[in-house]
Amino acid sequence: MAWKTLDDMELAGKRVLTRVDINVPMENGTVTDATRIERILPTVKDILAAGGTPILLAHFGRPKGQFVPEMSLRLVLPALEEKLGQSVTFIERPSRDAIDALPMDAVVLVENTRFTSMEEANDPQMAQFLASLGDIYCNDAFSAAHRAHASTEGVAKQLPACAGRLMAAELSALEAALGTPKRPVMAVVGGAKVSTKLDLLSNLVEKVDHLVIGGGMANTFLAAQGFEIGTSLAEREMLDTARDIMVKAAQVECQIILPVDIIVAREFKAGADCETHHAQNCPSDAMILDAGPATVKLITDTLMGAETLIWNGPLGAFEIPPFDTATVSAAQSAASLTKDGHLISVAGGGDTVAALNVAGVSDDFTYISTAGGAFLEWMEGKTLPGVAALG
Ligand code: AMP
Repeated sequence: MAWKTLDDMELAGKRVLTRVDINVPMENGTVTDATRIERILPTVKDILAAGGTPILLAHFGRPKGQFVPEMSLRLVLPALEEKLGQSVTFIERPSRDAIDALPMDAVVLVENTRFTSMEEANDPQMAQFLASLGDIYCNDAFSAAHRAHASTEGVAKQLPACAGRLMAAELSALEAALGTPKRPVMAVVGGAKVSTKLDLLSNLVEKVDHLVIGGGMANTFLAAQGFEIGTSLAEREMLDTARDIMVKAAQVECQIILPVDIIVAREFKAGADCETHHAQNCPSDAMILDAGPATVKLITDTLMGAETLIWNGPLGAFEIPPFDTATVSAAQSAASLTKDGHLISVAGGGDTVAALNVAGVSDDFTYISTAGGAFLEWMEGKTLPGVAALG
């Protein structure tokens, strides 16, 4: 899909409505992680440099259409000003007159878009009202693009629209990984449950050449093959579904890679005594908490022959060492192949970002998406309304 970027727009003298994601974590009134603010700075600065006025639209928390003081974007203002290095005008009740009264080099932050229920209802009146505040619409919030809300979708149809820097980088990375990727393409999908990643698996089977299934969800696939999985986390009601996915994969010549060896323990706790077994030989009183070294070698060997990797979800219970071993080793292999120019690697989804941080490789992947739900929907092959509205 083609979308315009800031470079395609005439920004000088224009009020640029810019949808951003500054939904940052806070504790006691202080922003505890300003990553999301840092990631919108290129867009804000480029609009200013081109002579436009960024008017930032964002949600904060889930106020469900009500004014909730703890979810006022006013609380984020100091961190935004600090990172941007200039003052920002906060507007609680925006109007075109108030915006026109500001100098062109102002940066404006509008109060939480979700303080009215019209936002999530994608009410056309709200979209029209937002459109009346600006001349151009720029969406830099990929993470909110899977929602058809007034500030992400409705307004985009009312004004000349483009993707901001972060959105454009995210779309290019995802396009390179799943749209028109260099082959062979490999996907690594881990995490707790098959049931939450069914659409994702079904889509990937059709698009990738090798699909690694790890984590708790691999246990369900092992059980579906008739293997003992002891007391492991698994979804017994999903065995037929797992078999269907394997049949479909065989039909479309997608190689499914399941654990060939497993790390098991009798307790779900850090430092628990653990053993390595063949994947067929899980003791009946033990649970599978990670993939073993032979599996990691299989993944690494496959990675070496791949051109593109897309990764979502950990290969084991990575929060409790030593069950982070497979995730960390595989992530490090992917990172070093990427650094050496042999692999395009794209990863995303909440736990994945945390897992890659544990592995210390966050800077070495080609692109890591922090978008969560939007990233997963993209991997599921769905059209994201906020992206479609830019076309
Ligand atoms: P998800 O949110 O679906 O990506 O799942 C991530 C969670 O799955 C993490 O909290 C992991 O600890 C957990 N997980 C991964 N592998 C296992 C396993 N073998 N047994 C139990 N939990 C696991």
